[in-house]
Amino acid sequence: MASPPTAGKRFNLSLMARVAITGATILDGTGSAPVSDQAIIWEAGVISWIGPDPEAILDHALLIEADGGTVLPGLIDSHVHISVAPTLTGIYDITEEPVERSLIRAANGAGLLLRAGITTARDVGSREGVAIDVAAAQRDGDLAGARILASGRGLTPPGGHGQALAVQVRGVDEVVAAVRAEHGRGADLIKLFPTGGVLGAGTHGFDVVMTLDEMNAAVETAHQLDMHVAAHIHGPEGIDMGLDAGVDTIEHGTGATREQSERMVEDGVAMVPTLVPLVALRQRELDLPRDLMKRANEVGDLQSESVATAIEVGVRVLPGTDAGTPFNPPGGLVQEMELLVELGMSPNEVIVAATSAAADTFDWDDVGVLAIGNVADLLLVDESPLENVGTLSWPATIVQDGVVI
Ligand SMILES: [Zn+2]
Repeated sequence: MASPPTAGKRFNLSLMARVAITGATILDGTGSAPVSDQAIIWEAGVISWIGPDPEAILDHALLIEADGGTVLPGLIDSHVHISVAPTLTGIYDITEEPVERSLIRAANGAGLLLRAGITTARDVGSREGVAIDVAAAQRDGDLAGARILASGRGLTPPGGHGQALAVQVRGVDEVVAAVRAEHGRGADLIKLFPTGGVLGAGTHGFDVVMTLDEMNAAVETAHQLDMHVAAHIHGPEGIDMGLDAGVDTIEHGTGATREQSERMVEDGVAMVPTLVPLVALRQRELDLPRDLMKRANEVGDLQSESVATAIEVGVRVLPGTDAGTPFNPPGGLVQEMELLVELGMSPNEVIVAATSAAADTFDWDDVGVLAIGNVADLLLVDESPLENVGTLSWPATIVQDGVVI
């Protein structure tokens, strides 16, 4: 399927430069062991050499000394909402503001992501689908920011969860029409809200609020249009329905049983748990309404348990922050990665999850892995992230599409 749009940064002269990082340890994003004393060279935004660094190869290249630092692929946040302000009432306020205001916030959010080393992110629901416009602007070189894979508006039933970021639909015909409409506007994927959630209007806890017929219709139509389907699901009942309908990724997946995790492995369904939002809420406990805090604590405990099981069983668990939830601005992906390490992933596994595994899930074949011919999206960090994933929070150098940020 389509590889990610390479930047149409036609007027950016630095895109054409030949740049090399020397003396680096290469962690290529596939899970392979790191290789030290390497050079990585890219020209016109594409990686042209990885290997020992004999001087001849470095001719006419702009040199960056790694000094033993590690080079790895740019990170991918698999779940963000760049149009939403990360405040306690952001999800409500968004419907009251002019849509241009949401669009500007989304554009800024893409910039915040990139400056945190997240070269690519998947937006799973934006106000009036503005993330689609941000994705296009970035692709065309009109905006410096993370490359965005955008779902546009999600699909939720009338009064359902996520309604500020969604179109409300009931019945197979409306579902099919909405999927086609989002595709027509340029969406890369379809987001469904088949269950309630923890925050925001239309919060019905774990209740299933879409029918299997509606889910089937959404998945079938999206797949025909070459789009994948991400489903916001809390609770085992919703997870069963999502798996029956054949969604591609389950967002949150709270309460997944061991059997359901085994089925995700069999069916090749990835899970994006989004652990950061509940941690962020718990850190602000004193500022929050008590009922919200109670709900957050219950869901948080259940989620930790189901994610640990999913990791143990071998589900493809992808790091996603749900940026845009309260106190959770774009850029917190490394914290999500650290939380996944606490729940059982090794540092190299979580780096794979935030690079090559995410790229593979979204059907991109030229990002997420450091390899000759791939897009030069990469980070240089001073300390080894295999000893401490947290070191990824302070990349010394960020490169996207070959351009040093
Ligand atoms: Zn979300």
